[in-house]
Amino acid sequence: MKKIERPLDSGSTSFNCAARNKRLRRTYPNLLKLGLRAARLARYYDISRGDPNIIRAADLTQREKEAILYIYDNPPISMSYIGDLRLSFAGETCPMCGGQNPGELDHYLTKQKYPEYACLAYNLVPACSCNRLRGENLFDPATRARVLHPYYDECLSGPLIEVRFDPRATPPVFEIHYMIDEEDPDFRNVKFHVDNIILKTNFLTYVSKRWGKLRVQPDAILPNRRDYRGNKNQFQEYLVELGEGKSADEGANAWATIFLRSISNRIISDWIFDNC
Ligand SMILES: [Zn+2]
Repeated sequence: MKKIERPLDSGSTSFNCAARNKRLRRTYPNLLKLGLRAARLARYYDISRGDPNIIRAADLTQREKEAILYIYDNPPISMSYIGDLRLSFAGETCPMCGGQNPGELDHYLTKQKYPEYACLAYNLVPACSCNRLRGENLFDPATRARVLHPYYDECLSGPLIEVRFDPRATPPVFEIHYMIDEEDPDFRNVKFHVDNIILKTNFLTYVSKRWGKLRVQPDAILPNRRDYRGNKNQFQEYLVELGEGKSADEGANAWATIFLRSISNRIISDWIFDNC
């Protein structure tokens, strides 16, 4: 998971243009009304920050819904922003889960329930295959907890979680530890995001494999570690710095950053110092 800049252009002008294009026979004239509303819907979405507790799904006709989902899957050249967004973070950290190489688009407000936002750039978040794992899980109306929005939720810029475990156990039990206070207004959303996105990916398997590899090949995971073996304090500082470097490079909640942050916990860093 990672905070990223919201696209400057909502895409609503391009969408309205495509909606009026008579040559698009699979969609014309079914998107005419929606095309005219596109700019207003984009403003509403932006002011509401995409929050599903605020935004009500519009009542589209079946024809409108089919047409907008078709044009999303088959965008004309004038709507090339969709393809551009999809690849805009290729090779980088996935804004939704913190894994690697997002090559898909996640409809923050899902396209089945909120088809009117299916082509809105603000609603299209580059994501990896975690996109397909979350399904329709978006929010809980009872608690108002929701998935975090990488374009709007500033809390994604800071460290949100680490993994706690007993390094002596084989295999250890890995548990998520939250780094924001339970009283923090963002806490319930962070927890909902972790439960419904992060824990549905293979994040904990990743942590387990990194830990397994660190135990047998510490030099592969911890470059130059031999230079910092003076004492346990120095070694822990080295691990903290390694994590900070990764955070600057890949984001505070990229999986690799979370792993390094987790092993710089004093109990674990001491264990590595003594055993690797
Ligand atoms: Zn992902």
